[in-house]
Amino acid sequence: APAGGLLALNNVEVIYDDVILVLRGLSLFVPDGEIVALLGSNGAGKSTTLKAVSGLLPSERGAVTDGSVTFAGTDITTMDAPDRVREGMSLCMEGRHVFEHLTIAENLTAGAYTQKNTADDLDLVYEFFPKLADMRNRVAGYLSGGEQQMLAIGRALMARPKLLMLDEPSLGLAPLLVQEIFGYIKRLNQEQGLTVLVVEQNARRALEVADRGYIMEQGRIVLEGSAAELRENPDVKEFYLGLG
Ligand code: ATP
Repeated sequence: APAGGLLALNNVEVIYDDVILVLRGLSLFVPDGEIVALLGSNGAGKSTTLKAVSGLLPSERGAVTDGSVTFAGTDITTMDAPDRVREGMSLCMEGRHVFEHLTIAENLTAGAYTQKNTADDLDLVYEFFPKLADMRNRVAGYLSGGEQQMLAIGRALMARPKLLMLDEPSLGLAPLLVQEIFGYIKRLNQEQGLTVLVVEQNARRALEVADRGYIMEQGRIVLEGSAAELRENPDVKEFYLGLG
């Protein structure tokens, strides 16, 4: 991998249920301090890629069967998920998955299971998301979709990640809220130096905040480049930005 890379996937192959080949030799690279967008249509394998990076595949009858994943210079291909969190990565899963019956504060504390210094971390999250601070004793199940997405991101931050991975943060949100959430992602990157890998179907928004992008189809990367290059690419315009 090039110098300064935080995350690298090298020819990763993933098989579900011993038979279905979902990632077919996928390679991608996330430089330290950048926002990288992973784009592609339904079923391309984007979520599977994040699961392979996070160490979540063994529990879903899927497995990495070839290739390697390197994080901060360490080969983590066979490391278990909690250890990967301790190494400094955090995944914000699709559909938010907040604990509906717990309060905001309890949800956030639950994200801190690798840290001793929970009170400081809570303060930082509340400082960044003042809305969450105002509502800290409210039960998460009654929050709006945008508030739940904020909470899910806040919870992922409680693990103090170097790399934040987000699976479809815009899913189900109205355009103004999508803009707000991507604004937070950009600020986390610029103000706190957080490296971000974001999976999105909303290619337009993702390429507005990202430094680089990858486009995947059927388990492989078919196109990569700077966000500016991708925004100008005729195929991307036609198939992903609806400008054809
Ligand atoms: P989406 O945007 O719809 O979530 P995606 O690009 O994230 O799509 P994946 O969710 O990674 O794609 O799925 C890639 C392929 O793997 C799909 O064909 C899907 O049906 C299959 N798949 C995903 N999870 C499993 C599983 N647990 N067992 C078997 N097949 C699976």
